[in-house]
Amino acid sequence: MKITEHIKKANGKTLFSFEIIPPKKGKRIQELYNNIDPLMEFDPPFIDVTTSREEYIYLDKGEGLLDRKITRMRPGTVGICAAIKHKYNVDTVPHVLCGGFTKEETEYLLVDCHYLGIDNVMALRGDAMKHQQYFEAAQGGHIYAKELVSQIQNLNSGKYLHDVIEADDRADFCIGVAGYPEKHIESPSLQTDLKRLKEKVDAGADYVVTQMFFDNKKYFDFVDAAKKAGINVPIIPGIKPVAVKRHLQLLPQVFKIDLPEELILEIEKCKNNKQVRQIGVEWSIQQSKELLAAGVPVLHYYSMGKSDNIKAIATELF
Ligand code: FAD
Repeated sequence: MKITEHIKKANGKTLFSFEIIPPKKGKRIQELYNNIDPLMEFDPPFIDVTTSREEYIYLDKGEGLLDRKITRMRPGTVGICAAIKHKYNVDTVPHVLCGGFTKEETEYLLVDCHYLGIDNVMALRGDAMKHQQYFEAAQGGHIYAKELVSQIQNLNSGKYLHDVIEADDRADFCIGVAGYPEKHIESPSLQTDLKRLKEKVDAGADYVVTQMFFDNKKYFDFVDAAKKAGINVPIIPGIKPVAVKRHLQLLPQVFKIDLPEELILEIEKCKNNKQVRQIGVEWSIQQSKELLAAGVPVLHYYSMGKSDNIKAIATELF
C-alpha cells in the first residue's frame, strides 16, 4: 500500500515508522531482524531501507603496488526490502539513488521492485563519493533527484527508457523525496532549496521526509514555508536520537544541521555514552510529543540499525 494511503487511512492519527541500514556485506540478515523485532509492536505501516554509495578500496598487490577497486559495502537494499516485507507483512521503502547508477540500472531496479510488490520508493540524489568534493553523476545517470522522480513517474505511466511497451501491468509507485528544514548544504538559500523541493513535487513526488532536526521550530517553519511555496504533500519529520558523544561533531559535519545549546550542554555533562544515549532518548521523546500534538502524519525515526533507543521512545508515545 502507498505511504499516502497509509496516511489517509490513519485519519489524522500519527503513524510510527523507521529507517534501517543494510548490514555490511558478509553479515547475517538475522542481526537486522533482531533490531526490527522489538519495534513491530508499534505497528509501523512502513520501514525505509537506505542505499549506500559505492566507494573505492585499495587492495595490496605487493611490491608497494595498490589496486583500486570500486565496491558497495552495504548492498542488498531491494532484497532486504523484499525479505522484510514478506517476513513482517509490512510495506518497505527502498531508497533509490541517482549516484552510482545509470538510468538503465535504475529502470531494472524499479522493475524488480514492481515484481516484488514494493509500492513505495524514496528518490534521492545521494552524496558525493568520499574522494569527491562535489557530487558527480554516473555516466548515463541522473544529476538531480528531480530527474529520478520523473523517470519513476514515466514508468508509472508505462514509459520505459528506450522501449515502447504496451504495459499491461503498470507500476504505480508512490514517491518520497528528501527535504531539509535547515537547507541542503549545497543550496545557496533555504528559499532556493524550497524551490528545488517544489520542482521534485511538481515532477511527481507524493511525500517528503525531512533530514533530522533537533529543534522542532525548524520543522514547523519549514512546513509553513513549504506550504507558502505551494508544496501541498505530507512532510514527514525525521527524528534521530543522539546516541554517542561523538555525534556532537559528527551530526553537524555529516548532515549540516545545528544542535540546540541546551542539548549540547546536557550531552557534555555525560560521563559515558550510556548517559548520552539516555539524553538522546529523552530529547527525542520531548520532540516527538510536541510533533504529535501538532498532528504530524508520521514520526519517522533514524535507527541506524539499532532499535533499543527507538523502542524506548516509541514506548512513551505509541
Ligand atoms: P536533490 O533534490 O537533487 O538536491 C541536491 C542539491 O541540488 C540541493 O542543494 C538542491 O537545492 C540542488 N538542486 C536541485 N535541483 C537543482 C537544479 N536544477 N539546479 C541547481 N541545483 C539544484 N543518501 C544516501 O546515500 N542514501 C540514502 O539512503 C539516503 N537517504 C536519505 C533519506 C532522507 C530522508 C534524507 C533527508 C537524505 C537521505 N540521503 C541518503 C542523503 C541525500 O542523498 C543527500 O542529502 C544528497 O546530498 C541530496 O539528495 P537529494 O535527493 O535531496 O538531492
